Amino acid sequence: MKKFLILFLFITAQIFATEPYVILVSFDGFRWDYVDRGVTPNIQKFIDDGVHALSLRPSFPSKTFPNHYSIITGLYPQNHGIISNRFRNPHSGEWFGMRTTKNNWWIGRAFWETAEYNGIITGTYFWPGSRLDDETRRPTYSKVYEHEKPYEERIDSLIKWLQFPKEKRPHFLSIYFDETDTKGHMYGPNSPEINLSIQRCDSLVKYMVIGLEKIGLIDSVNIILTSDHGMTEISKERTINIEQMLDGLDYTATGGDPFMMIQPSEKDKENIKTILEANQRHYKFYERDNIPEYYHYSKNGLITDFVLSAELGWLLVHNRDIERWDEYKSAGTHGYDNHQIDMHGIFIAKGPAFKKGYKTGTVWNVDIYPLLCEIFGIPQPQNIDGKLDRIGFLLAD
Ligand SMILES: [Zn+2]
Repeated sequence: MKKFLILFLFITAQIFATEPYVILVSFDGFRWDYVDRGVTPNIQKFIDDGVHALSLRPSFPSKTFPNHYSIITGLYPQNHGIISNRFRNPHSGEWFGMRTTKNNWWIGRAFWETAEYNGIITGTYFWPGSRLDDETRRPTYSKVYEHEKPYEERIDSLIKWLQFPKEKRPHFLSIYFDETDTKGHMYGPNSPEINLSIQRCDSLVKYMVIGLEKIGLIDSVNIILTSDHGMTEISKERTINIEQMLDGLDYTATGGDPFMMIQPSEKDKENIKTILEANQRHYKFYERDNIPEYYHYSKNGLITDFVLSAELGWLLVHNRDIERWDEYKSAGTHGYDNHQIDMHGIFIAKGPAFKKGYKTGTVWNVDIYPLLCEIFGIPQPQNIDGKLDRIGFLLAD
C-alpha cells in the first residue's frame, strides 16, 4: 500500500512539475562593485528580491573567452582548452582566435549540450562556443556574433523565443552585452563614461523585465546576472617591455597586457628563463609546471613553457604597444590574477528557484554550471571543476 502511495505521489509531482526557465545574462567586464554606484535601480530590485554574492571570481586568466567558457562548462581553462582569447598551439603552430569554431579546440560539454541531452530546449543570443562547426553541440537557437547588433533587439529575440509553442520553446537562454567591457577599456573603471555604461546595462535589465511582464512570464523565469571579469586602471607609465628585455633571443610571445605566454626556442630557453626570472619586478615568472595550483593553469599542453602574470595595474608589452598607445587610448584592462578583487564580476539572481533578499560572499564562476543542473533537476557531467556545495545554498528550499 505504502509503495502505491509513493508511486502515486511521484506521478502527481511529475504531472504538476513545470520545467523551469533560466536566462543567463553576461555583462562583459561588469566589475563586482559597479552596483554600489547608485546608478542601478533596476539591478537593485534583483538584489532586494533575489540573491546577491559579494563578487563572482573568474578563472585564470581573467579574460573574456576563457571565462565565458568556464561559466558554461563548469571547467577551468586548463581543462576546457580555451586558455586565452587568442593563442597558438605550440606543437602544431595552429592559432586559436575568437572566431575559431573548429570543434577540437572546445573541450568539455557546454550547459546547453547537457540540457538538450536531457530534453530541454536551449537558445543563446551570443556566447563563446555556441556556434561550433558540429551542429549537435549547438543550442537549438543561436546567433552568429554581430558586435553592432542593437542590445534591445537581442532582448526582443529572446522574448520572441519564449513565446514559441511549448514543444519549440527554449527553457534555458543566454544573452551577452559587451557595453561595460568596451567602455571600461576605453575610459577606465573610474570614469564618468563607465557610469553611463553601467546605467545603460541597468536600463537593459528593465527592458528585459518589461518584456517578460508583457508575456506573463516574469514570475516563472529565473534571471542570473553575471559577468566574465572586472576591470582595473592602467597607464603608459606602468609598462614592462618584454621585447626589449629579450632582444635578440628566439621565442614566440602570445597574449600581452597583464598576461603573456612565452614559448622559447630550445637554443635560447635557458637564457630567456634567466632574464625573465631576474627581472621580476611588477610581474611574476612561471614555468608551466610550477604555476601555483590555485591558478588551475598548468595541466594543458597548449600552455607555453613560460607564463608571465603582471602585478595589478601593470602591463607586459611589445614595442608596438608603446608606439600605438595614444591611438588606442587604453585606460582599463583585465587578465590579471583572478584572486584580485578588481578582476571579479557580479553574481545576482532572482526568480522562483532562488532565495529572496539573500546575501553571500564571493562565489566562483565554475560553480554556475552545477547550479544550473540543480535548477533543472538534471545530472551534471562527471569530472567538472564546479561544485554545487559551494553555491547550492543560494537556492530556495
Ligand atoms: Zn570580457
